[in-house]
Amino acid sequence: MLKGKSAIVTGATSGIGLAIARGFAKEGMNLLIDGFGDTPANHKVAADIAAEFNVTCVFSPADMSKPAEIAGMVDLANKSLGGVDVLVNNAGIQFVAPVEEFPPEKWDAIIAINLTAAFHCTRLVVPQMKTKGWGRIINTASAHASVASPFKSAYVSAKHGLYGFTKTIALEVATNGITANCISPGYVWTPLVEHQIPETMAARHLTREQVINDVLLHAQPTKQFVTVEEVAGIAVFLCTDAAKNITGTNIAVDGGWTAE
Ligand code: NAD
Repeated sequence: MLKGKSAIVTGATSGIGLAIARGFAKEGMNLLIDGFGDTPANHKVAADIAAEFNVTCVFSPADMSKPAEIAGMVDLANKSLGGVDVLVNNAGIQFVAPVEEFPPEKWDAIIAINLTAAFHCTRLVVPQMKTKGWGRIINTASAHASVASPFKSAYVSAKHGLYGFTKTIALEVATNGITANCISPGYVWTPLVEHQIPETMAARHLTREQVINDVLLHAQPTKQFVTVEEVAGIAVFLCTDAAKNITGTNIAVDGGWTAE
């Protein structure tokens, strides 16, 4: 039932978003993948998906902190895919520092990319989903949508906000055949996690091994990183008919972290 449907996946040139895009392409969905940087490498990510799965896959370098570029991305999806059935708000960044040292421009960027971009993307695709009477909005939140960790004030605020936003949209579109949900991973081994290790070493005065074992995996009772494919599998499931009554929820994929 997903073959031929069209999806936007933001933050899809790397990590979780890339795995979701590949999971959708495997189902025969046509895609617009967005990622930071108008680079040959990012265009190649889209070209490779198109070739491997025999689907349409276009690349957009729209900066998720810029509302005008987000509007351009949605226009590009409408023109090249004929509309948007599924929206995955996945782009995200992280920064780790004590609040008194947290650079205000990092706060603004995290709120813009991890939270406000989801508002802009959603407001621009909901009208056509309502017209069709079908749509799926999937927001990559985090265990940090439910619990906090020190030194991540902006990220935790954005992810808590994203879950609140998701619940609100789910209620607004509940009778339109549209669902809105969060997927909330624990720690997944991606560049986003790799990049925060040096900052966490500095903020907590720890070695790299201590950060991995005593901070990252310490949070997860399974003592394993979540895989990108596990997250992608849930995104695919949320697009199926079996999931049509799952809306306004937050699906944790965190090895038990938020059960504690
Ligand atoms: P990643 O660094 O591998 O990928 C981030 C993606 O976002 C890339 O495609 C990048 O190009 C894109 N991006 C960054 N800034 C952008 C901007 N200004 N405009 C457009 N695109 C931009 O990260 P990831 O770990 O795959 O994270 C993806 C999402 O999953 C994020 O929202 C993150 O908060 C969330 N998440 C990650 C983990 C984890 O442990 N990795 C855990 C929970 C939630």
